[in-house]
Amino acid sequence: MKIMPDAGEGEPPGRGALNRAEWNDWHWQLQHRITTLKALLHWLSLTPEEIEAIETEGGLPFAVTPYFAALADRYDPQCPIRRQFVPDLREQQFIPDDLADPCGEEKHSVFPWLVHRYPDRVLLLATDGCATFCRHCTRRRMVGRCRSTIDRTMLDLTVDYLASHPEVGDVLISGGDPLLLEDGALDEILTALRRVPSVRIVRIGTRTPVTIPQRITPELVGVLKKHHPLWMNIHFNHPREITEECAEACGRLADAGIPLGSQSVLLAGINDRPKIIRELCRGLIAIRVRPYYLYQCDLAPGTAHFRAPVKTGIAIMEKLRGHISGLAVPAYVVDAPGGGGKIPVSPNYIINCERNKILLRNWENRLFELPQPRTGKSARSRARARLR
Ligand SMILES: *Cc1c(COP(=O)(O)O)cnc(C)c1O
Repeated sequence: MKIMPDAGEGEPPGRGALNRAEWNDWHWQLQHRITTLKALLHWLSLTPEEIEAIETEGGLPFAVTPYFAALADRYDPQCPIRRQFVPDLREQQFIPDDLADPCGEEKHSVFPWLVHRYPDRVLLLATDGCATFCRHCTRRRMVGRCRSTIDRTMLDLTVDYLASHPEVGDVLISGGDPLLLEDGALDEILTALRRVPSVRIVRIGTRTPVTIPQRITPELVGVLKKHHPLWMNIHFNHPREITEECAEACGRLADAGIPLGSQSVLLAGINDRPKIIRELCRGLIAIRVRPYYLYQCDLAPGTAHFRAPVKTGIAIMEKLRGHISGLAVPAYVVDAPGGGGKIPVSPNYIINCERNKILLRNWENRLFELPQPRTGKSARSRARARLR
């Protein structure tokens, strides 16, 4: 029985060469993650730069599941899947714009694993592990470092905090990837959170349906659906990530009544074209995933080569609204450097704003005038404003 295809077979490694039962087992996928140059050479033909980047790599560790590696083009260094997991020498170049903690999470941390930035919701970082390390990772300051995962004491502290902050009705569990925890551990976390009556919804942020869809087992889904209302946001960046396995994983989650959203990062050379984002978003609604956010790439150190200008993001949004189903249109957001939170950025559809009318343009650039209501109250406040 062959576990890994041999080097030098000539053909790109196909799943046919592998034992299917093992391939479909998420523990097998994790245990057989590719983490060394030697192992990766079984899968991809690498450029000298890629080889050097893997050998000298000192920042974010390198790891990819066999499943995700198999989606990459063996020969194309520009392959959008490959560029998301193969280290790049440019990750070692830091520029003055870089910020170790790009979204200012530490300044809003209650505990190192609990970020409370918005009035009614918190972010719980349940683990620093991931199945595949994304080269554009924004939490590279902590991800993949010391394999730390939330324990009983941390969970008790979290529950105490939530109990004393009844204004928090939404707990977003992220990391790292929380779905790398075993079913029992997840059940324990969700049960603990659910004991706090003021917690209305729990959300899970994960990339497992993309990088290790085998994780979405019927048993996992059975655990998750005990804790409704539970929502899930999945990190998708490219239409090629929507495979049959991924669609099946999302289908199992959706069948269990878990509303699915996507979070994508605008990545230069990977998805920074309207056509690609359109294809991605259309593909997502077809697998019952509602595009939620398109993120401007954060200022995490060593990710400058992934950043596209906001102008590019706005041009992409311009080609979404009106062109594709409104259900497939995400919100484009910038997570403000230093901790300001998410700021929506969008094409401007308001051409002129007057007291009694607004001039708007539509997606085809045709102009429309909308008369504005003149209520007594606003008339009075206008009068006051004129006096000032
Ligand atoms: C993104 C984020 C949230 C959730 O934001 P929504 O806009 O409600 O999806 C909550 N807390 C932190 C710290 C975040 O970064």
